[in-house]
Amino acid sequence: MGRVALVTGGSRGIGASISIALKAAGYTVAANYAGNDEAAAAFKAEHGIDVYKWSVADYDACKAGIAQVEADKGPVDVLINNAGITRDAPFHKMTPDHWKAVIDTNLTGVFNMTHNVWTGMRDRKFGRIVTISSINGQKGQFAQANYSAAKAGDIGFTRALAQEGARAGITVNVVAPGYIATDMVMAVPEKVRESIIAQIPVGRLGEPEEIARCVAFLSSDDAGFITGSVISANGGQFFA
Ligand code: NDP
Repeated sequence: MGRVALVTGGSRGIGASISIALKAAGYTVAANYAGNDEAAAAFKAEHGIDVYKWSVADYDACKAGIAQVEADKGPVDVLINNAGITRDAPFHKMTPDHWKAVIDTNLTGVFNMTHNVWTGMRDRKFGRIVTISSINGQKGQFAQANYSAAKAGDIGFTRALAQEGARAGITVNVVAPGYIATDMVMAVPEKVRESIIAQIPVGRLGEPEEIARCVAFLSSDDAGFITGSVISANGGQFFA
């Protein structure tokens, strides 16, 4: 097939599983990451997937990074906007820095990446863009006004862009995971994690591979009629 897929935050957690699933499906995969060189090097050595370091929050770095990936691998056909961070705090303690860091990475980062692949996808009349939002962007979450706003923004962005891409063969979709067993969730204190699991009807955290399979489907030719959609994968916790 020879298609090229670029996964942001693609060397750890959910993104790593997405990179691995897309490689298994026959894509040439490039995995972007922000700063954890050790994890990226280990990921590359284990899975044979090339890693590229830049921050999605920096527009010019995205432009240069994508140009490098395209020089190495060919035009990006599939973009997975997976990179994300949390800076949780109840709103009365949330600082402008908490707000800005999360918006810059989780929302503006999606603009920065998508904007730099969009013209090429339009010219080639094919593209797949999948952005990883969150259940907390759909329903809101205590101490996550920044994160919930960014992740809800990703959904609005997707629905608007799906309309612009439709006639150009570009689909734009969101996967909205519930709680998934990655570093991000395992960093939550155990007691809090137990109370989270108690609220999940299937009675467990999701696995990164379960999100990766949703992303691989939306990236495939079989999903050509699905655009502007949000696939919720949350163990029955929230319906949207
Ligand atoms: P992890 O913290 O395990 O991994 C985050 C990845 O994003 C890392 O590869 C990290 O790079 C990268 N990253 C962070 N900031 C940037 C940046 N500025 N530029 C480029 N890459 C960056 O996160 P998860 O795997 O848990 O989460 C992946 C996505 O899924 C996120 O968008 C998250 O919000 C979303 N999500 C996660 C849920 C969960 O339960 N885990 C639930 C719902 C949504 P590096 O390795 O260099 O640090």
